[in-house]
Amino acid sequence: MNRLGLIERYRDRLPVSEATPIVSLMEGSTPLIPVPAVSELVERETFVKFDGANPTGSFKDRGMTMAVSKALESGAKAVACASTGNTSASAAAYAARAGIACIVVLPAGKIARGKLAQAIAHGATIVPVDGNFDDALAIVLELTSSHDVALVNSINPYRIAGQQTAAWEIVDELEAAPAVHALPVGNAGNITAHWKGYQSVGEAPAMWGFQAEGAAPIVYGEIVDDPETIATAIRIGNPASWDGAVSARDESGGRIEAVTDEEILEAYRLLAGRDGVFCEPASAASVAGIMKFSADLPPGRVVCTLTGHGLKDPDTAITSMGDLDPVPATLSAVLERVGL
Ligand SMILES: *Cc1c(COP(=O)(O)O)cnc(C)c1O
Repeated sequence: MNRLGLIERYRDRLPVSEATPIVSLMEGSTPLIPVPAVSELVERETFVKFDGANPTGSFKDRGMTMAVSKALESGAKAVACASTGNTSASAAAYAARAGIACIVVLPAGKIARGKLAQAIAHGATIVPVDGNFDDALAIVLELTSSHDVALVNSINPYRIAGQQTAAWEIVDELEAAPAVHALPVGNAGNITAHWKGYQSVGEAPAMWGFQAEGAAPIVYGEIVDDPETIATAIRIGNPASWDGAVSARDESGGRIEAVTDEEILEAYRLLAGRDGVFCEPASAASVAGIMKFSADLPPGRVVCTLTGHGLKDPDTAITSMGDLDPVPATLSAVLERVGL
């Protein structure tokens, strides 16, 4: 099959017409990778849907190709988003491609470095604010409702429409849904979109969502004022699609649980070190969750979404896995370090 962007691949199922100017970077069609080390631990055949292989390195591109195409169709000259990092990287790239402006409002000091580099490279106007993601989103909602700027956060229904394609790809490839689909939950747009996508093709895997313990409002049933976790992409205290996540959980017979930062990092190291797949910390929450609750997995296959690429957050990799103290520049010192 020739490589197609998402909208071309699933045009008949998406809200586009011949008049829609398609803004695509050939996103989607990401690999579904078997992960033997994880499979052995959880005693189920497990795959990761590696959405870090999208053009800007996260699943956000699935929704952004739709949101920016529709913004362009409606005549928008600018888009705006609040972001923990990946939304801004994706919005900046698609806006650049579309030839329109992009405004991003970010929690200052809490954006992984790779993501910030992308927004800068693609020429977005970046405004760091002294506040968290939830504060940034409130500002952007007001800005986009009072100015001629299109909102491209996941409350934009075209984002959710585009993100359904991940579920369709999995069903196309496995010729059925898995028994369990696990994913990290931040603003909860992605779990909402996956459930919608599965249902629209008559499938109903149990949806298992995982939040970081310090940012688990849906698990605790209340807003978290100061969310904190190493998994910055899910550092969200008041998810925009809260109801969608609860419906996905309840209608699918699934669950939404908390995993600790230590459990997230353990899954992150296992994926990279044993299965050869490098994702960012938030993504590893899905695998941490199925490891933690493996005793409850029903029979059948498991798919975990790895939402973003490990290169997004080089600092976490280096501080959590690296031993980079230099040795003298001699063969003997090198041999000693490598244990030969
Ligand atoms: C955005 C994001 C999430 C959270 O997705 P939601 O749709 O907000 O629940 C998880 N992981 C990564 C890497 C992300 O970029």
